[in-house]
Amino acid sequence: MGKIAINIATGSLQQQEMIVGIDLGTTNSLVAIIHPENRQPVVLKEHDGNALVPSIIHFDKMGSITVGDEARKYLITEPQNTIFSVKRLMGKSYNDLKERSSFFTYKVIDDNTESLVKILVGEKFYSPVELSSYILVELKKRAEHILKTPVTKAVITVPAYFNDAQRQATRDAGKLAGLDVLRIVNEPTAASLAYGLGMRNDETRTVAVYDLGGGTFDISILRISNGIFEVLSTNGDTYLGGDDFDLGIVKYWINQQGIKEEELMVHKGLAQELRLKAEEAKKHLSSNTKFKGEAGGEQLELNRGEFENLIKPFLDKTIECCKNALADAGLSSKEIDEVVLVGGSTRVPVVKEAVSKFFGRDVHDELNPDEVVALGAAVQADILAGNNKDFLLLDITPLSLGIETMGGLMDVLIPRNSKIPSKAARQYTTQKDGQNGMRISVYQGERDLVNDNRKLAEFNLSGIPAMPAGLAKVEVSFLINADGILNIKAKELRSGVEQSIEVKPQYGLTDAEVEKMLAESIQHAKEDIQTRAIVEAKAEAQLLIETTERFISKNQSFLLSEEIKRTNNAVAELREAISTNDKDLVQKKTEELNEISRPYAERLMDEAIKSTLKGKSI
Ligand code: ADP
Ligand code: MG
Repeated sequence: MGKIAINIATGSLQQQEMIVGIDLGTTNSLVAIIHPENRQPVVLKEHDGNALVPSIIHFDKMGSITVGDEARKYLITEPQNTIFSVKRLMGKSYNDLKERSSFFTYKVIDDNTESLVKILVGEKFYSPVELSSYILVELKKRAEHILKTPVTKAVITVPAYFNDAQRQATRDAGKLAGLDVLRIVNEPTAASLAYGLGMRNDETRTVAVYDLGGGTFDISILRISNGIFEVLSTNGDTYLGGDDFDLGIVKYWINQQGIKEEELMVHKGLAQELRLKAEEAKKHLSSNTKFKGEAGGEQLELNRGEFENLIKPFLDKTIECCKNALADAGLSSKEIDEVVLVGGSTRVPVVKEAVSKFFGRDVHDELNPDEVVALGAAVQADILAGNNKDFLLLDITPLSLGIETMGGLMDVLIPRNSKIPSKAARQYTTQKDGQNGMRISVYQGERDLVNDNRKLAEFNLSGIPAMPAGLAKVEVSFLINADGILNIKAKELRSGVEQSIEVKPQYGLTDAEVEKMLAESIQHAKEDIQTRAIVEAKAEAQLLIETTERFISKNQSFLLSEEIKRTNNAVAELREAISTNDKDLVQKKTEELNEISRPYAERLMDEAIKSTLKGKSI
């Protein structure tokens, strides 16, 4: 492992090793670097000239994993063990996805709670973090193969609208893949950097970034001033992209050829072939006016005009989003200085025309739209490495700052390499009925268990009024000011009781210590994340046991004795599982208990609603 040196005063990293830029996309992922000789950003390509790795993971019967084009072949024929669109699951609970559950052709565990979503493949449970890490491992492997040197540091991009939990999940995926994630960068920011916008310190530019990928559409309005990127507004549709164009073409052909729906249900191979052919046709039409092909013995044709008609409704929708984004930013289209096209689907000529027409100016399409985010990530990596002398590095936090949560886990509020000043807040709740105090322990470091990190402070928020577990809302906020002083405040929002403390995180911390802490976090990344996974699985199981038991004792008279017996058995088995260190077993037993209690919980809910309608209460 290479040595990491950080200049505490400037936060700059001093090392020789190359830092890669990674675009971890919903549809495709790729890696870029700054070319060591000509200092230009370039994407890394395999011998076949392909830079894009489809963000798809396939598990075979033996449990071995393939990622990318290989995995893509199984999308329709083996939907249960072929995972796509993992990015949509990052930092999400099942409740967040409920409305779209039919979108996922693999098994997303429906546990009806706020806890993070899990995916079941065969007998094993996977978190979106683990699944994303498989994609990152593949990218890392490819980069090492192409560069012929170890790759351990990266900048990874995320959509501008990603929240704290989604960003943290992306960091964790990087860590699990053995990557030191130096920074999480917004995709529109990266795209602007790739075009060199805002690289001059004296200019202020307002930039619209139109990103139409495979499954998502985002429009972001940025203001860049003195090297600082501010997101003025974002808008979009998380279920609109090139895939919709492909499906539109498939439907068109099915109609034209008189292919029966049932035929496609039985003959999955044909469905897959049609879908791939449709994408081929679409791409062909980006540079030609006519497409002719064949799939499953059917002669297929499409010309550009027909295609443009098919996608018009989608295109109109994206322009509608652009209008909304401008309105939210309080700007008119004339006030936009630059328009940047991002995403493979902006290669479609009519898309380009529509965007250009709406903003009334030429758009940036000089770089490949599906590469521009990765290229920008590489530019950001280079700036962080201190190689880009045009760019002044702002003060940053050398180590992450967070608090201890259940099971001794570290919950990061301000990630390392954040700009100073910086602030963050998160809500927590009580674990026990009537709990009237909460201990806030503040730590610094990159490890998943607080015991392996550096303790900065501890205080007690007391005087929380008695209420049932889970009802109190304690907001913990961190504010690190320009002098590097961290103010930590805890406030119970229902009652208003609060308590705060100040510390200087850098006090008494040497460069060598920071270096050692960083190195250890990468060395222990795998076991740390495993420990976190098991602690979280157990905590979730424990919570389920408590709520189930409370539910049973309250509703005893409404339940069948058979139901109570089965539930008690499942609770006992889950308790047993918790006493082991087998994460999959804990998750399996949690799921089983959920399955048993769901039907009667729903039934009681229905009855409660019915009787409320009748005006009596139960
Ligand atoms: P994401 O950001 O969602 O991971 P990309 O930016 O890589 O995805 O965009 C992928 C989408 O771009 C796919 O729907 C793909 O079919 C489409 N695409 C790629 N090349 C072309 C092309 N030449 N013409 C039209 N669409 C294209
Ligand atoms: Mg993208």
